[in-house]
Parts: sequence; C-alpha cells; structure tokens
Amino acid sequence: MVATPVYMDNHATTRVDPRVVDAMVPLFAEQYGNPSSTSHVFGWDSRAAVEKARVEVARAIGATEREIVFTSGATESNNLAIRGAAHRLQRKGQHLVSVVSEHRAVLDCMARLGREGYEVTMIPVALQDEGCPGRIDLQQLEEAIRPETTLVSVMLANNESGVLQQLGQVGQVCKQKGVLLHSDATQAVGRVDVDVESLQVDLLSFSAHKFYGPKGVGGLYVRRANPQVRLEPLFEGGGHEQGRRSGTLNAPGIVGMGVALGIAVAEMESEAIRIRGLRGQLHEGIQDALERVQLNGPPLDESRLPGNLNMSFLDVDGEALMMSMKDLAVSSGSACTSVDPEPSHVLRALGLSDDETRASLRFGLGRFNTVEDVEFAIEQVSGAVERLRRMRP
Ligand code: PMP
Repeated sequence: MVATPVYMDNHATTRVDPRVVDAMVPLFAEQYGNPSSTSHVFGWDSRAAVEKARVEVARAIGATEREIVFTSGATESNNLAIRGAAHRLQRKGQHLVSVVSEHRAVLDCMARLGREGYEVTMIPVALQDEGCPGRIDLQQLEEAIRPETTLVSVMLANNESGVLQQLGQVGQVCKQKGVLLHSDATQAVGRVDVDVESLQVDLLSFSAHKFYGPKGVGGLYVRRANPQVRLEPLFEGGGHEQGRRSGTLNAPGIVGMGVALGIAVAEMESEAIRIRGLRGQLHEGIQDALERVQLNGPPLDESRLPGNLNMSFLDVDGEALMMSMKDLAVSSGSACTSVDPEPSHVLRALGLSDDETRASLRFGLGRFNTVEDVEFAIEQVSGAVERLRRMRP
C-alpha cells in the first residue's frame, strides 16, 4: 500500500532528512550560543559547529571554506551575487548578460538593475524542436559580451525543464572575455556533481531546502583567487561573514545544511541512478496509458536533472488536472510562482504555445519516492486526464 498523499514536488522543496534533523537538534537547546560571541563556551561551541559545516559545504563544491558566505537561501544569494558584483564593478562597466529562462530571483534582480540604469542582455535558449531544448548557444553568449560587460549569470539546472547548462564551457568563455560568471545552482547542488573549479564559476548560489536540509538557509560561493571577487553587501550591520553578509548566523540551519550536503554528495551516485529509474518508469507509464502527451525540455539523459519530468497533457488544463489529484503533490506550468499565475516563462522560452504550457505538469522525484509512489502517480494522472478530456465540450 502506498502512503498518501504522495509528494512529487522536490523542485519546490524537499523533506528534511531525519539524519539532518538529528544533527540540528542540539543547536537549539544545548549549543545555542551566538557564533559571534567570543567570550564564553556557548559561543565557541556554536562557532565550532558552524565552521565544521562551512568546511563540509566548501568541500562538497570544490571550494575553500573562506569562499563560502552563509545566507538565508538562494534568493538572497542571487541578489548578493548579482547586485553585489554589479554595484561593486559599476565604474568598470554597466552591462550584464543573463538568460530568459532564469529563476525569478535572477530575472527580477536584472530588471531592477535595468531600472537603475544598467543595460541587460537576455539570451534565448534552444527551442523544444532544436538541438538540446533549453540550452543556451555559446556563440550567442560570446557575442553578447561587450567591453563594458561585468557579469554573466547562467543557471546550472533549470527548476522547470530540468535542463543542465554546459557551464564549464560558459565559464571558459567568461574567463577568456574577462567577465565574472555567476551561476544559480540551486537545483543542481546536492543532485549532480558541482565543482567550482571545473565549472570556472566565480559566484555560485545554493539553498539547503533543495537537498533535504532546512528552509531559510543557503549560501554563496565567492571566488578568492584568479580573480578575487569583491561584492558590495546587500545590507549594513555587524560585518559578519567577512563583511559580506551581516546578521547573526543561523547556526542550526547552517549545521543542517552541512550535514545534508555531506549526505547528498556521499549518496549522489546511487541516488541519481535510483531516481533516474523512477523517472523513466513514470514517463513510460504515462506514455503507455495516455495519448496526446508530450515531453517538455531535453531528453531524459545526462542533459537533464535525474528527478525532473515535465510533460504536457494536450486538451487538459494543468491547474484543473492538479486540483483533481488531491493525493498527488506536483506542480503545474503556471503555478510555480503561485502568486503570479502567468503561464511559465520557461516553457514559453522553449517555444511552447500557451495551450501546451497550460497543459503541463512538473514532477520532481526525490530521495523518499518509491516504485509504489510512481505506480500511484501513473494511475492518478491517467485517470484524471481521461476524466477531464471526457468532460470537454
Ligand atoms: N533559484 C532556483 C533555480 C530555485 O529553484 C529556487 C527555489 N524555487 C530559488 C532560486 C530560490 O531559492 P530559495 O527558496 O532558497 O530562496
């Protein structure tokens, strides 16, 4: 018997791994000192726990611990990276480059800088019927970079289509051109191999709640050598995190993030194989059960996050489909940012029509999903799609 409701929305967030919860508990009631308190053992203990987590996080992405800035999550990390670098380098130039299918936390940062007088070039992605759907063209990127460009921001893994960019090659282009590269790697860290050296990134954002850690804590990798990246902080305060992010450190969250990332890296290979298997089972099951369904985004291979599946069920409204499956948690192509029910800009960027976009569902498979969950999802989706199609005038 499957335990309902079934959670398949692991791009939105993940359940905190029980091993992570266990590691966090002492930080609330025993080692509860402020990590910045230097005059007593409570402070020393929580500082030691935070610094251990910093080493763990740094090691997981091929960085050194002084290159990690703890934040409240990837939204803040993206803001700190983009606004922080753009402002710091504004005398060098005021041109930025990014991609149309980025997360809102990047797009809205770019838009705001645009209102402040910066120029922003947004490059497109390959359409659904071209090459690798969702990927950027490196030549287009190269052509977009100008002498006054200071920063390029390209996400590593997309939260809707699951496409993985060829970031190492993007990094090479940016190095050659002498511009900084930021990557929103929120959906990638903990799920696929991320190494800041081979990717040649200068700034990289991540968030604990995407890899079975707690919500409200994340980090930003900031390169210290070749080149040393300097940022203008987002807000003023006590000068924590080497002056880059003021505010008392979220010690329980940071400890949880360190343990969560350690587990994710140690188990990444076997977990990715298992999750990819479940994703294949889900895709095939839906395809066998239903007609007029299409895969959105890249093929189900190395160009895509292991747990991501995005499909359109033609002649069905994704929102209505979701609502009719009360025991299955997925998301629709228009509900990702639920405060803004516009059809997904990511699917639109792939050239999908509004109807195809509205007919889409995003499945995010994760650590706690089972074969039984997938069987349940196939049954739920095919039943609901058939019902909704029958009801059409
Ligand atoms: N970037 C991407 C690609 C994301 O998927 C998310 C979370 N939906 C964020 C940024 C924002 O992360 P956080 O919730 O930690 O602010």
